[in-house]
Amino acid sequence: MGYARRHGELCAEGVPLQRIATAVGTPVYVYSWRSVHEQYRRIEHALAGVDHRICYAVKANSNLAILARLAELGAGFDIVSGGELERVLRAGGDPKRVVFSGVGKSTADIDFGIKCGIDAFNVESASELARLEARAGLLGCNARVSVRVNPDVDANTHPYIATGLKESKFGVPPEQALELYCRASASPDLTVAGIDCHIGSQIVDVEPFEAALTALLQLVDALDGEDIALDHVDIGGGFGVTYGNEPALDLDGLGEVIRRTLADRTLQLRVEPGRSLVADAGILLTRVEYLKPAPAPGYRNIAVVDAAMNDLIRPALYQAWHAVEPVVEDGGVPKPWDIVGPICETGDFLALDRELALNEGDLLAIRGAGAYGFAQSSNYNTRPRAAEVLVTDEAFAVVRRRETISDLLGLEMFD
Ligand SMILES: *Cc1c(COP(=O)(O)O)cnc(C)c1O
Repeated sequence: MGYARRHGELCAEGVPLQRIATAVGTPVYVYSWRSVHEQYRRIEHALAGVDHRICYAVKANSNLAILARLAELGAGFDIVSGGELERVLRAGGDPKRVVFSGVGKSTADIDFGIKCGIDAFNVESASELARLEARAGLLGCNARVSVRVNPDVDANTHPYIATGLKESKFGVPPEQALELYCRASASPDLTVAGIDCHIGSQIVDVEPFEAALTALLQLVDALDGEDIALDHVDIGGGFGVTYGNEPALDLDGLGEVIRRTLADRTLQLRVEPGRSLVADAGILLTRVEYLKPAPAPGYRNIAVVDAAMNDLIRPALYQAWHAVEPVVEDGGVPKPWDIVGPICETGDFLALDRELALNEGDLLAIRGAGAYGFAQSSNYNTRPRAAEVLVTDEAFAVVRRRETISDLLGLEMFD
């Protein structure tokens, strides 16, 4: 499912990538819907027998077409801004299945969430709880609260995406969570709904999830003693995928641990996967502009392509490794190439030291680019952002057109 070669040519489902490049140009993000769908089913299967809800973390890939298809499957959504809530609504998502995470929710964001009747605010501080209570009171609408607990577990991942350690900015420690629940349950404007955490991203071991869930359930029991009942426990996202040869998180193993740890509790279990639903489904399709073979020993072979760090920042930001494949294999002699973009930064590379047989004009597929690819893209160097294409079986559709220079300059003014 997703990407495979047909007659030597790399295809997205039934569509040759060359055809997309010719029709839409490069660079372009391509997503395979079947791949997203299959991964969604895998997570559901892993959680079979547990009352659960999958709340897709919108920030991983927020294209409306993907959100709309996930909404059709009955997914909930984890959002981190008012803008993401707007996206979910436009895509036909149900606000009653939305949870709102993030340490810095603005008053406008909070008001918007309350008015839409979202399922839960994942509250990350005492101050946020106070603001939420005040706004709910003012608007005359009750707000549902989950406290994001920081369980202080090491997710064993890149420091920029580890979020469950004491020193991180996210959530509150368990002791403080109890206090916040007491305040929330005493308020006429708030309803205690659940408890949540999110300990990091690209986690490949089950143990950190087990430790986090265990910590949350200890709090659930303590709250039970105070006669504060919750309806859900949310273990966040962060399910690791395979980019190179690292193992992906064992989803069925995670399901086992969840069933065992929850035992006979009647809480609904929630997960907030982002990356694991969409990473494998996406590629960044780019064309080789120039080859600069090493002129002498000690130099590197440089392949300049038309995609850059503004399109895919993961290699520069997280030292991320993405597989690179020629769309058509030409059978030439491979050499080690650095695949770099046109941006004026030495950090502007997509891949280093890859054994490839390259010619100018070749198309390359940067794999595993469906999550935190387009979503983190920018207009640095006044580069219009790439188009996005969604493939289903034999058909493809442009689901976001390529930006134009006028799109970019139209917001600016002078004199
Ligand atoms: C980013 C984020 C997620 C999703 O993380 P993935 O690693 O993409 O699964 C889930 N929950 C919260 C609160 C997040 O910030």
